[in-house]
Parts: sequence; structure tokens; C-alpha cells
Amino acid sequence: MGKVIGIDLGTTNSCVAVVENNEPVIIPSETGSRTTPSVVGFSKAGERLVGEIARRQAVTNPERTIASVKRHMGTEWTTRIDGELYKPQTISAMILAKLKKEAENFTGETIHDAVITVPAYFNDAQRQATKDAGRIAGLNVLRIINEPTSAALAYGLDHADPQKIMVYDLGGGTFDVSIIEISDGVIEVLSTCGDNHLGGDDFDQRITDWIVKEFQRENRIDLRRDFAAMQRVREAAEAAKKELSSTETASINLPYITMVGSTPLHVQLTLTRSVFTSLVSDLIERTEGPVRTALADAGISASQLGLVLLVGGSTRIPAVQQKVSALTGKEPSRNINPDECVAMGAAILGSTLAGNALMAKGTGQDLILFDVTPMSLSIETVGGVATPLINKNSTIPTRYTKTFYAASPMQKVVEIRVLQGDRPMARDNKMIGKFRLSGIKRSASGLPQIDVTFDIDANGILTVSAQDQMTGKFQSITITANDRMSDAEVEKARQEAQMYAQQDDMRRSALELYSQANALAARVTTVAADKNKIPDKSQRKLLQRSLKDLSHHLKRFNAAKITQEQINDLQEAKDRLEQEAAPYLDA
Ligand code: AMP
Repeated sequence: MGKVIGIDLGTTNSCVAVVENNEPVIIPSETGSRTTPSVVGFSKAGERLVGEIARRQAVTNPERTIASVKRHMGTEWTTRIDGELYKPQTISAMILAKLKKEAENFTGETIHDAVITVPAYFNDAQRQATKDAGRIAGLNVLRIINEPTSAALAYGLDHADPQKIMVYDLGGGTFDVSIIEISDGVIEVLSTCGDNHLGGDDFDQRITDWIVKEFQRENRIDLRRDFAAMQRVREAAEAAKKELSSTETASINLPYITMVGSTPLHVQLTLTRSVFTSLVSDLIERTEGPVRTALADAGISASQLGLVLLVGGSTRIPAVQQKVSALTGKEPSRNINPDECVAMGAAILGSTLAGNALMAKGTGQDLILFDVTPMSLSIETVGGVATPLINKNSTIPTRYTKTFYAASPMQKVVEIRVLQGDRPMARDNKMIGKFRLSGIKRSASGLPQIDVTFDIDANGILTVSAQDQMTGKFQSITITANDRMSDAEVEKARQEAQMYAQQDDMRRSALELYSQANALAARVTTVAADKNKIPDKSQRKLLQRSLKDLSHHLKRFNAAKITQEQINDLQEAKDRLEQEAAPYLDA
């Protein structure tokens, strides 16, 4: 097996790492930064843009820019651009493909395998969608692992003293807290809890609302109606938030944000850290519940924690750090980079899976990793009750079988409804799949007996099967949420992604050719009419004819639909004109 990359596919930013010389290293992006914005844009010319370049054009191209797609993973969300329908998996795949390419440039090898991280609270559909995204990007996803576990792995390498730690992970879109036990090279997740919809984006939204309100108070104008203005406000809100992590005040200046008649208006505000803290205090408070639950589920009190690790960019906020200290009575550890440790842990696991035994420093033992299921998994039984087969925080991979009786002896069909959640009644949990087992028969005891088996693999993906004891009839499903893509769909999307990769390269070079040809046409237009420069009439005519030909190709040019043949024609017309005009053009 070649090198395995570890990818933290984040809501806001993504990060990729690889193990080199037994150490995880972050792979820098082509712009030199260590994280890549999880943003995809489609330029007006039909070019696909991913990462920093997509984030930068978001303001001027908001309708054709997709950010925070992770929030939609495992849902029915789609978006249509230029007549093409995109699912969260296909958008995420574009980000993954970029990271793959950067890893290939960095290592000089073709990368096939990856470990991708997900929030511990991701359900089966979200994990599966992440895996599908990897496959579409042309990656063999060896493992999906929980982000806090990954962070602990990164940490475990350097700090293998036996202890229980808390990983408090507040990123752009999700909050996760996990209690993890590290002992003798074994990293075991004892419990995990979180909130799928809490993160830095919410903080940005609060500042955005504040800016809009302040602006409305001063100018009586509602900026929310102006899409482009709002993009700028949102960017400024995030920048101010980040600044306030190290300073007490941040200036928010957005010149020419809008016009009233012919008068331009500007945003000129100052946000203090204390006002910011009051704007988001209830959001920060919301992390308390999951922290308490995770501690209770692990059966420990905060005082038994050896360490508290901060993961995710939003933990740089002083008020968040204060909250963590207040909750745990511990100063959170800062010697691990909150933006990078998740990808590093994934790279470590990837390298281990590739057969490179990474040693836990100080113990001389291989690292062993136990992950857990974040929620209980049950089936609906008589009276709408949720009967659990796998309790939350069970170590995975795991398998459990339970025998159920059909409700009546005459029953020929049972419907198995699979639920995820910790509530006692079926209706209060999320139904993540259902299937029917038909042709069942009553057993010696009178009622048909059905064995239901839940099987969770190392990625946290669940397969449920049911078997009638009498007839041996068997049915199983790997949980298919509606949004789960079929293998055929994944394959189609993967091929499309590959096709687009080629097309994108073609478009890029076509656009370059277009701009060169345009510049040439402009120069020749002036020269071809200049009798002083070209006294010979027939020469001028010749040039004008070739110029007309090139202009014709330029007019037809449409990067979104261009074919190789059209590119060749354009190239030919440009070359001809260039050659003919060369004697008359200034160097
Ligand atoms: P992650 O998903 O871990 O990359 O976290 C991204 C989130 O962290 C985004 O909402 C960022 O705005 C936020 N973030 C990054 N740096 C800082 C900072 N210095 N202060 C506050 N928030 C930050």
C-alpha cells in the first residue's frame, strides 16, 4: 500500500496530513496555507473553483458559491448550477479531490487511500455520504473516524501517560465533546456527545445580525435585501471575530456597502470583545449540556480528567476557553494546534492501517484505537416502543443479535424499523431505515421468532439483518437513508468527477488561449488599419481577413461548452494572425 492521507473534511476549512519519517506532517495548499477553505465556486465561464480561490470570489459570485456543505451531508439538499444538479457528496468530493491532488504534488506519489474524519455525532447517513464523497473523488476510504478520536490519536503519540482526557471540539459548524482514555498505547473513547448545529458559523451570524442592526439604526436601510452586501458583511463579521481572539476591539469597515440615490454609504463600526461575548454567550452556554452528559456517560467527574484538549478554530475564542476552564476546573491544553491535530490523527491512523506500526512514544507498544457509537440503535416493537440492540457509547466494531416475536401467530410479514437515538418511544427517535421480512412462519412456541442482528463496522456504518428461525428467510440492509447514493450513482458521479477534472484542465487552458487571442486581436486591429505601418494594401487586406477569422472564433467562444475542436480552430486562427502580423507588431 502506498501513502495514506488523513483528511479533516471540515465545515469551514479542511486539512490534509500524511506521515513522513514516522511523523505526521500537514500538507500545505498551493497557496501555502495549511488549511483549505471548504468552499466550491462555479465561475461565470463555467470553471470550477475550489478552496481559497473559491472563497475569494464568493462575494462577487454568491449565487454560484457553496460553503459549509458539510452541514448538508446525509440530507436531501441539492443545488442546481448551469443545469447540473449537485448533491452534498459531489460538492464535498470536489474539495477532497483538490486535497488529494495537493497531497500528490507534495509526496510525488499517486495517492489512492485516505482516512477521513467526521464529527462524532454524525449519523450513519452522514458517514456514508462522506465515504461516498471520498469514492467520487477517486479515494479508497480506508476508515471514517471521529474527529475527537483523531485529535486524541495525534496527542496520544506524544503523551502516552495513562489518563482520561476530554476533547472539546468547537469548529465552524459542529460541536463535539468526547471523553477518552489513553493507557499503554490504547486509546479508547469512553463517551461522546455534541451538537450538530453549533459552531463558528453561528458566531459569525450573530455579528452579522449586529452589523445589520447597527447599520439600519444609523441609516434606516436593511442590508439583508442586498445579497452581495451581505456576503461582505459576513466576511467582515468572521474577520472581526477572529481578531477579537487576540485583541479587545475590532474595527469593521466596509466602504461603499450600498448606495442611496447617488450617495454611497459605508459601514464603520467598532466591536468590542465584551459586546461580542454578550452576543454569543448563550451559544457558548449551549456547550455545557453535552460536556456534562459526556462526563456522566463516562462515569467520571471533571476532577478526574487528566487533560482537556481544545480542537477546532472556535476554541481560540477567549470566552470559550474560559467556559471550558469553568466547566472542568482545568486550564485547557494549548500545545496542540486546534486546526491541524484532527488531520494529523487521521494520517497517523492511515499510516497504521497501511501496516506501518507507529509506536506510542514512551510505551513501545502499537497504538490501538477503540471508537464508540454516539447514539443508541434500536428497533420499533409493539406499542411504538424503541427496543435498543446497541447502547450508546458501545465500542465498535460491534455486533449484537436479539430474538423478537411477531405480534400474532398468523403474521406473514414483519416490518423492521431501525431507529437511532436514546429516547424510549420510537417516534421520538430518528428512523434511519426500514425493511420487510416476508414469508415468516410460526415456531414451536406459537409465535414466529425473528433474530435481528445489528452489525456496526469500524467506520460506524450499520448493517441490520433479520432472520426467521423457522424458515431461515433472511433480509438485510445497510442502512439506506433516502439520500444515500447507490453504488451505481456513486460510480456515475465518480466518472463525472474524473471527466470534469479533464474538462476543467481543458477549460483553464482554453481561457488562457482566449485571453491571449483577444489581446492579439486588439493589437492587430490598430496596426491593420495603419497605412503608414503597412503601406501595401494587399498585406493590410490579408491581415484584416485573418483578423476577421480570429474574431469569429472569439465571438463563438464559450468556456462552459467548449470542445477540443473549437480550441484547435481558435489556436490555428491565432497562430496564423500572429505569424502574418509579426513583422508589423512592436516587440
Ligand atoms: P474548523 O472547522 O476547526 O476549521 O474551525 C473553523 C471555525 O473556527 C470558523 O468558524 C472560524 O471562523 C473559526 N476560527 C478560526 N480561527 C479563529 C480565531 N482566531 N478566533 C475565533 N474563531 C476562529
